[in-house]
Amino acid sequence: MQTINQVVKLRQIVKNQGDGKVGFVPTMGNLHQGHISLVKLAKQQCDQVVVSIFVNRKQFNQKEDFQHYPRTLAEDINKLQQAGVDIVFYPDENAVYPAGVEQSTSVNEPVLTDVLCGASRQGHFEGVTTVVCKLLNMVQPDRLYLGEKDYQQYLVIRKMVADLFIPCQVIPVGTCREKDGLAMSSRNNYLSETERQKAPVLYRTLVHLAEQLSSNSKAFDNLIADAKTTLKAEGFILDYLECRHNTTLQLWQAGEPLNDYRLFVAAFLGSARLIDNIPLEP
Ligand code: AMP
Repeated sequence: MQTINQVVKLRQIVKNQGDGKVGFVPTMGNLHQGHISLVKLAKQQCDQVVVSIFVNRKQFNQKEDFQHYPRTLAEDINKLQQAGVDIVFYPDENAVYPAGVEQSTSVNEPVLTDVLCGASRQGHFEGVTTVVCKLLNMVQPDRLYLGEKDYQQYLVIRKMVADLFIPCQVIPVGTCREKDGLAMSSRNNYLSETERQKAPVLYRTLVHLAEQLSSNSKAFDNLIADAKTTLKAEGFILDYLECRHNTTLQLWQAGEPLNDYRLFVAAFLGSARLIDNIPLEP
């Protein structure tokens, strides 16, 4: 495995490895099994796997703590070595934003980014699309692997890739969960022990709501309201709990079949902002 922090060197090495398919997994580090599940699929489908580790200041807004985002480069490199990754790319901010973060050209997807996390985290998705566009231009992979845990992010990046004719296939990977159902996330580290025990209620509430909606969609408004009440009673500060179309992110309207829709939730538990989503089955 090679570890590289310069774009020129990265390009040389990727090129020198021949014509095989290159798979790319962008991350912000502090790696867990969720990240590794992306790497595993990339390894199955590609000849060479590149993983980037870059904590992107541009996607954090002022309230969020960019400075305190967990940085565990040595452990991450170890995990990636064990997972059989070919190249770890860990550029510094100057390499990614040579003109400066504020001065850089940026990429904005205007349709899918004003709802859900886009509504509550101003500028977040512009930060994400900008950095992923830059990283795709640096790595030039054939396939890009993204987690469905961040489902809106997956849709936004997929649309950016299509809109900008970036020659790369975008591949979604299902959410990796702890045994109790909690979606794995670097942000779970912010939970206290008591909060960690409460946290799986988020997923359990989604699953219960999905089951109820499948058998009784006429009671939609009441069922959503009940689920919100449950989460609040358990100590979550709710950002959103919504049912939206799984490609357009339009809100579900009464009378439509539910099977093209997903449930999306975001809520604070203490200082941790947790997100999750699940598809609705027919
Ligand atoms: P991050 O380091 O949080 O920016 O995540 C890097 C990539 O890993 C993104 O595509 C995430 O959607 C994905 N990812 C994070 N957590 C999980 C998870 N629990 N299951 C699957 N993919 C995940």
